[in-house]
Amino acid sequence: MIDLRSDTVTKPGPEMRAAIAAAEVGDDVLGHDPTVERLEHRVAELLGKEAALFVPSGTMANQIAVRAHARPGDEVILERGSHVLQFEAGAAAALSGVGFWPIDGTRGTITPDAVRRAIRPQVPHCPQTSLVWLENTHNAAGGSVWPQDQLDAVAQVAHDADLPVHLDGARLWNAAAATGLSPARIAHHADSVSVCVSKGLGAPVGSLVVGTRAFVDGCWVHRKRMGGGMRQSGLLAAGALWALDHLLDRVGEDHSNARLFAERAAGLPGVRVDLEATQSNIVVLDVAETGRTPIELATELAKRDVLLVPFGVTLLRAVTHLDVSREDVARAADVFAEVVSAPAATGRG
Ligand SMILES: *Cc1c(COP(=O)(O)O)cnc(C)c1O
Repeated sequence: MIDLRSDTVTKPGPEMRAAIAAAEVGDDVLGHDPTVERLEHRVAELLGKEAALFVPSGTMANQIAVRAHARPGDEVILERGSHVLQFEAGAAAALSGVGFWPIDGTRGTITPDAVRRAIRPQVPHCPQTSLVWLENTHNAAGGSVWPQDQLDAVAQVAHDADLPVHLDGARLWNAAAATGLSPARIAHHADSVSVCVSKGLGAPVGSLVVGTRAFVDGCWVHRKRMGGGMRQSGLLAAGALWALDHLLDRVGEDHSNARLFAERAAGLPGVRVDLEATQSNIVVLDVAETGRTPIELATELAKRDVLLVPFGVTLLRAVTHLDVSREDVARAADVFAEVVSAPAATGRG
């Protein structure tokens, strides 16, 4: 099976499992877990920030950040396709009473001007803007990467209005590999950041919320309230530490593999791929003109041992990761070409 549904499907290999088995642990809720502390310290350092908090998922990292920055009735400015708005089950409204002001973006980015216009006046009739939210790389836009000067300029607009900036960096490692910039440079103007260790890095579980010491200390109680306090979580942190040591440097390979798939797919009749947006490990395929639905195509592909996910009414998504080789991806591209070129089955459904 060549599984391109997501970079979350990677399974820890023998060396990572050995590191996990050997981890020194404590109780991270009652007191301290030394391996979790090492991970938090390491990630904070990588991002050039003071502190980090290890949490079970990217969704929880984002929701803790929303809760810590905004009060009920407040509003967050973001790009319309952002994960926190589209794929977190309405959690910001449900858990924090926080609303969104979505801006239509270009490849997941928004402009300084659009952000300036979306900031609410401080009058009692309006919700109060309390946060500007950015996502890099941008999942729904196909793993596209922010031009760094644009990200910096948007952060400047927020800071000029005394608003903090949160960066959803679930795939910050991919943004770094794509641009050649360090994670710290990309996150420099963000007040807080969420990063994931179970996507491109291949650790089994976990994300971190990163920021100033005071901000992260404030996040602790929100993690507790959301049920994210873990005990001997050093077992999980050990996998993430091992990945940072051994797998961070290879993330760029996923990008050239995604490029291979994107270029092959873009040449097929009826398939559209925004090659300019394909800058990291995600390929979004618009199959509208094949006359087949994403679900039909995904079902046919699965019969031939290739897994992609339907990603919208006319879209399929393929994601490369450390458990698929260049040969796997080339093979998946061959199978995709066969399936797309085959005449549609009669008696649809
Ligand atoms: C995957 C993802 C998340 C959420 O991570 P989970 O661990 O699946 O909850 C948040 N933001 C972005 C941009 C993501 O791609």
